[in-house]
Amino acid sequence: MPFPSDLQIAQGAALKPLGDVAAAMGIGPHLMEAYGEHVAKIKLSAVDELAGRPRAKYVVVSAVTPTPLGEGKTTTTVGLGQALCATGRQATVAIRQPSMGPTFGIKGGAAGGGYSQVVPMETLNLHLTGDFHAVTAAHNLLSAVLDNHLFQGNTTGIDPHDITWRRVLDVNDRALRNVIVGLGSRMDGIPRQTGFDITAASEVMAILALSRSLQEMRERFGRIVVGYTKGRTPVTAEDIGGAGAMTVIMREALKPNLMQTLENTPVLVHAGPFGNIAHGNSSVVADLIGIHSGEFLVTEAGFGADMGAERFFNIKCRASGLVPDAAVVVATVRALKAHSGRHRIVAGQPLPDALFAENPDEVHIGGANLRKQIENIRLHGVSPIVAINAFPGDHPSEHAAIAEIAAEAGARAAVCTHFTDGGRGARELAEAVAEAADEPSAFRFLYPDSAPLREKIETIATKVYGAAGVDYDLLAARQLATYEANGYGGLPVCIAKTHLSLSSDASLTGAPTGWRLPVREVRASVGAGFIYPICGDMRTMPGLGATPAAHLIDIDRDGNIVNLS
Ligand code: ADP
Ligand code: MG
Repeated sequence: MPFPSDLQIAQGAALKPLGDVAAAMGIGPHLMEAYGEHVAKIKLSAVDELAGRPRAKYVVVSAVTPTPLGEGKTTTTVGLGQALCATGRQATVAIRQPSMGPTFGIKGGAAGGGYSQVVPMETLNLHLTGDFHAVTAAHNLLSAVLDNHLFQGNTTGIDPHDITWRRVLDVNDRALRNVIVGLGSRMDGIPRQTGFDITAASEVMAILALSRSLQEMRERFGRIVVGYTKGRTPVTAEDIGGAGAMTVIMREALKPNLMQTLENTPVLVHAGPFGNIAHGNSSVVADLIGIHSGEFLVTEAGFGADMGAERFFNIKCRASGLVPDAAVVVATVRALKAHSGRHRIVAGQPLPDALFAENPDEVHIGGANLRKQIENIRLHGVSPIVAINAFPGDHPSEHAAIAEIAAEAGARAAVCTHFTDGGRGARELAEAVAEAADEPSAFRFLYPDSAPLREKIETIATKVYGAAGVDYDLLAARQLATYEANGYGGLPVCIAKTHLSLSSDASLTGAPTGWRLPVREVRASVGAGFIYPICGDMRTMPGLGATPAAHLIDIDRDGNIVNLS
């Protein structure tokens, strides 16, 4: 019998009443707001109500530098949560809400996979409780307020050629990357060029993910910079009168969403900021609840450890004040073979046959990437554990090769089969994580708030990415100086580079050295609270491929969704 599809497995799930799932976290019905049968929002009062309870061990799941297919962080986050519960520990999982862009594009949904999924996966991947739509609405309300501000006389003196606030939509639509608004007659607004980004790239999304309370979210919205005057003075959402109304639109969205895994482990699903131009982590509010809901809180950080985990440590933990106890690095045979430089994996194309030949030597060569990512966890004083995510077609000698690389680097490792076996397939990983989390945490930020922006960028580039140095374009240097002058110098940085290499060149595999990080431009998410240097071409509005998932996804005669992956 062929292995069932993710959707088939998900549709066969035995879901528990959500009240029982919440009860396992110590959350009573008075803190829940039902959204249909299998999703509930958790009230924000839970943060204070639970604060006095014991603190769970805080575990972040990251990975080696992935192939374009993803190496199974979400699947492993879910599998580890299930495994911790299967070994008698109370665990909660916290993940991002998937964007509908990739769901209908190439990558598919992001509910995990196989027997380690969040269910109902259709609900998770499509709309959920509408938080993304609220982000879209709040973002575009500010756009409308801004264009109206120009139309009504532009009292702040914004330079129409220096507007940074665009519009957003949760659809992969390349035709909207550049648009002209305000066409028509005098009463139809001031014509100007702008464009759309995908909702996950909205600063509103990053703010949703980083705010600890409604009041804090209100203040962060107020600090959003929408553009600059001719004299380079920033103009904020507060200045043009948009922040309060945005908060009203986002009031419900700040409450995390509770779901469950195939094995009824509680899952908090909340926010979904982009992993390159934003920090790529689920929400602080969800973690402030999950950290007092049991013995373990397992959360995922987007992309490889150089990206998601670095931002988890230096941006998310800075905002939340929470201290991580252990970090899982997901490694796959296919990714490490790809890091040997001998195979090219392209999304949407069949995997090359040569990738499946037994070849532990190739795994060892590509292992340079794993070694560097383990070091990147250690730089922050956190214990790394390597999760060897077993795929069909892997050879035991290749798993052994990954285990050897981990052992040489002094990290715990476990082969896991949670994709095929559910939680019981990750029991060894659960034990390794529990042991590592029991060691005293020596967590530290990579750089102090007070370091100049250039020093922060150079610290990440040289220590985490392995660069020899950083080169700034003239524009970038000027922008950095402006940000320091505007008082943004104390913010952390979120370096936007490719996730497909430790370097800024997607074609460089393994752990490249001797290269320099080129900073083309630097942008500021002042509301979210980070400065983001742009290193390479960053797509903030994806397009659809030649055969997008949207062509296949449909409903059957009974109204069931088919071909969602
Ligand atoms: P990430 O979160 O790192 O992007 P995902 O967990 O979403 O990765 O997994 C990427 C894809 O690979 C998904 O389609 C998932 O179902 C699949 N996958 C993950 N682990 C396995 C595995 N062990 N065997 C087969 N497929 C897997
Ligand atoms: Mg994921």
